[in-house]
Amino acid sequence: MSKGGNRNLSLIIAVIAIGLIYSIRLFYLQVIDTSYVEFANANSKKILTIHPNRGLIYDRHNKLIAFNDNFYDLSISYPFSLKNFDTIGFCNILNISKENFIERLKKAEKTVYKGSATFYKNLEYYKYAALQERMYEFGKFYIEIKTDRMYKTNSGAHVLGYIGEISKKQLEKQNEDGYYSKGDFIGLAGLEKYYEKDLRGIKGEEVILVDSRGRQQGSYLKGKFDKTPVSGKKVTTTLDLMLQEYASKLMQNKAGSVVAIEPSTGEILTLVSSPAYKPEALTIRNKKLNYGKLLNDPTLPLYNRAVTAAYPPGSVFKLLNGLIGLEEEVIYPETTFPCYRGYSIANLHVNCHPHPQNLDLRGAVANSCNAYFCNTFKEIIENPKYKNTRDAYIHWRNFMLQFGLDNKLGSDINFESEGNIPTPEFYDKMHNNRWGFTRIISLSIGQGEILITPLQMANVISAIANRGYYYTPHCIKKIDDKNAIPVKFKTKHKINIKKEHFEVVVEGMKQTLINGTAARTGIEGIEICGKTGTVQNPHGKNHAVFMCFAPKDNPKIAIACIVENAGYGATWAAPIATLMIEKYLKRDTVSSKPEMEERILKAYLLKTPKSKDSVEKKNELEREEINNQKTDTSKRKTTKTNFKNVALITEKLALNKNERKKNN
Ligand SMILES: [Zn+2]
Repeated sequence: MSKGGNRNLSLIIAVIAIGLIYSIRLFYLQVIDTSYVEFANANSKKILTIHPNRGLIYDRHNKLIAFNDNFYDLSISYPFSLKNFDTIGFCNILNISKENFIERLKKAEKTVYKGSATFYKNLEYYKYAALQERMYEFGKFYIEIKTDRMYKTNSGAHVLGYIGEISKKQLEKQNEDGYYSKGDFIGLAGLEKYYEKDLRGIKGEEVILVDSRGRQQGSYLKGKFDKTPVSGKKVTTTLDLMLQEYASKLMQNKAGSVVAIEPSTGEILTLVSSPAYKPEALTIRNKKLNYGKLLNDPTLPLYNRAVTAAYPPGSVFKLLNGLIGLEEEVIYPETTFPCYRGYSIANLHVNCHPHPQNLDLRGAVANSCNAYFCNTFKEIIENPKYKNTRDAYIHWRNFMLQFGLDNKLGSDINFESEGNIPTPEFYDKMHNNRWGFTRIISLSIGQGEILITPLQMANVISAIANRGYYYTPHCIKKIDDKNAIPVKFKTKHKINIKKEHFEVVVEGMKQTLINGTAARTGIEGIEICGKTGTVQNPHGKNHAVFMCFAPKDNPKIAIACIVENAGYGATWAAPIATLMIEKYLKRDTVSSKPEMEERILKAYLLKTPKSKDSVEKKNELEREEINNQKTDTSKRKTTKTNFKNVALITEKLALNKNERKKNN
């Protein structure tokens, strides 16, 4: 072959090769690499978000508490080009005027986010049905299916919380996963907030084709790029719905709270703050109608007293002083102190009620003798093993801290208050560095500057029931049928007081219900150990307090109950707690004390708070609501505000916590 022939052949091969490469590339681009097709169709596709179903919420016995209900929002994609749009037909379906149509469009334009805006919220079903048939004509409009909460119960609102539309601030502050879009719902309070990430699920996507006028032309590439949404996880709570509902009934027409805990696990069985509201009152669709009303209600139903309100504990605090006295070896189980209708020192006299004489520690607990515990507390803080009273007080206070007092417990219920066990610095300041037993004598019997929330009180009684330890109270049992609950709820908090000391105090608590201050409130066949308390309230009638657990051995339930402005603990708080114990341990039986049950159910002890208080608390609730939208650090501030307001109840304000921490 000639040289020229060779060159021609090379040229032909080169041309064929280049052609082949192009053909392969073209084939690849058009047939294999769909990204090219995607690019080509960029102007004619639309991605619709499919909202997942929110996780369902159950009680500890697998009874459904919260579920979902679909509703429909009509949205529009931006820009709103509405050429050749059948406005009249569209307005007829929605039953709105043309003016309203224009108004809605203007409003929508102001709220465009990621290329779309809501035009009509919560479509009535018949409008939704009529629209669906003609949706292809109304190009830029599309329907978003959303889910609202529904409830199987009228109780538990303060625990469950509620969901709501995400705020602008929350949108801006959301983390890198960028999960939320405008108009999305998010847990704003309660368990809905705490377990938001588990409950929310994973969004899906539907890619659809749209024509040049923006009209939907059906699924793109047969749904090849669609993503199926993943439902939120099932959240099983520790609540016992039957007990929760029963406690709500008993607390009806009363102000206060009841918290019941399973001592061996720290699981919250019941948490009632009364007055309450029905969970359904604050669903997405009902919130607008009800929130203002609830906020203005002078009985403060939005306020979660169980975790936010802090009260002086009263006589129930004597249990702790007894335990500390034993551990510090300043008293023994057999120690007796005289009671001369109370206790006198210098020019002070602390009254006591009539009761048998020569009481030892058990008898003093059962009869709630003030003199006994004034003596005990004096021995504790004048203990010669410490260099001075102040030093002894620090040791006493450290015991209190071990019981979870003076701090948020860190449960999964929001707006917990810290309560207050004053620091020595607080008393230094208050008494000009000169203070001793007589200055703080009221701490002997749970009055004075100390403040405890009902949740903390329930935790203390759990720790006593366990004879020296507790688990942080919590409402989560399982997430998606796995027991993978946060580690902090499985961590044992040990109290440095010997088990044998607890047994002595527990014996006294048992006697309380046999021949002590709560003798008539016991339940036959159940060994209940309890302690009554009647807390002085400078604003009116005393608060009734009772804490108890049962049975005495292997306790299954521990309860703290406080009824504001009710009077004696034994009259009002003890029956509520013991009736609950009966209900919980004997399950669905009719109460063995129908008269006591009826008296409690019928009692109306609600007192409308003074207007000044209610205004302050209303403001506080408003701040709380705003705070929902803020970050964690600001949340801490609010709780402090709550704490301050709550202290109104006690008249005495605790020293600013920050200041105290600084002083430490
Ligand atoms: Zn006495």
